[in-house]
Amino acid sequence: RVKASGKGSFGFYEPAMSNGLLGRVQMEHALRQALDRDALRVVYQPQVEMHTGSIVGCEALLRWTDARLGVVSPGVFIPLAEESGYIVKLGAWVLEQAVKEAMRWVKQGLGVKVSVNVSSLELHQPDYAARVASLLSAYGLPACWLELELTESALLQKEPVIVHCIEQLADLGVQLVIDDFGTGYSNLAYLKRMPISKLKVDQSFVRGLPQDMSDKAIVEAVIGLGRALDVEIVAEGVETAAQRETLMRMGCGFYQGFLCAPGVEAATFQAMLRAQAAGLEAGSLGGGVPG
Ligand code: C2E
Ligand code: MG
Ligand code: MG
Ligand code: MG
Repeated sequence: RVKASGKGSFGFYEPAMSNGLLGRVQMEHALRQALDRDALRVVYQPQVEMHTGSIVGCEALLRWTDARLGVVSPGVFIPLAEESGYIVKLGAWVLEQAVKEAMRWVKQGLGVKVSVNVSSLELHQPDYAARVASLLSAYGLPACWLELELTESALLQKEPVIVHCIEQLADLGVQLVIDDFGTGYSNLAYLKRMPISKLKVDQSFVRGLPQDMSDKAIVEAVIGLGRALDVEIVAEGVETAAQRETLMRMGCGFYQGFLCAPGVEAATFQAMLRAQAAGLEAGSLGGGVPG
């Protein structure tokens, strides 16, 4: 609906424009205060092994609730933080929370892998790998419990600082994962030489399953690629049992999605791990309820 042009047109466009601009500046300002104001938290979304149904890991996802702006989606504030460079500080905070929680779970005998998203700007920090190493040793967490999710575009940057960073991370024993796989332009020959242990199939290809034939073909191709590269495949955004069944039949090993759970508070995730461990124990003692 467009208002009459002429004198009124400036008045019509101006508020929207200034909202957009001010909104952005205000949001960035608010984000920089969020850490000190306790407005950020990390939630953990379970990762499930297809054929056992067991939770074997989780992805740490950042959440921001601002006093004035309300809940702001990561899809909005992460790109903003990446543009301003603030993501380096945010990313370090998320990583520390995740390492702290993972160590808590390991100590309780509930250990699962925790996966953390890393922006390409973070990999550009020459001391990134060294900071990951010192965080792991500060909390006493063995590197094998930590996974870092990188995007195709971050991995394929051939800048020496990134290449070196990735090598250092792999040498530490941290698992490297490619996130949103299929949405970038991976050079397969290059991929073969990268120290990667998992590919996450982007949820945009999962959404159309089981009906959409081209999504099906793409997911099949990614699973085949995973086999060829000897890496695990995790499907993202699995919402229905039909999607899970289809993926399992195709040979996909793991999934993440609302079908199991969305991202939940650390305490809730820990309770899920505890319930799972108790169920296993009851089963192995023959104390489980049959049927
Ligand atoms: P991502 O890493 O691909 O994370 C998966 C996103 O899919 C999450 O969105 C998750 O909540 C959502 N999701 C999971 N299961 C389902 C499902 O069954 N259906 C649907 N529709 N969505 C599902 P979220 O938390 O909004 O995060 C969006 C993106 O923001 C992430 O995509 C990631 O790229 C970025 N992000 C989130 N936290 C961080 C962080 O700590 N650091 C960095 N650098 N990026 C982050
Ligand atoms: Mg991710
Ligand atoms: Mg993803
Ligand atoms: Mg994504």
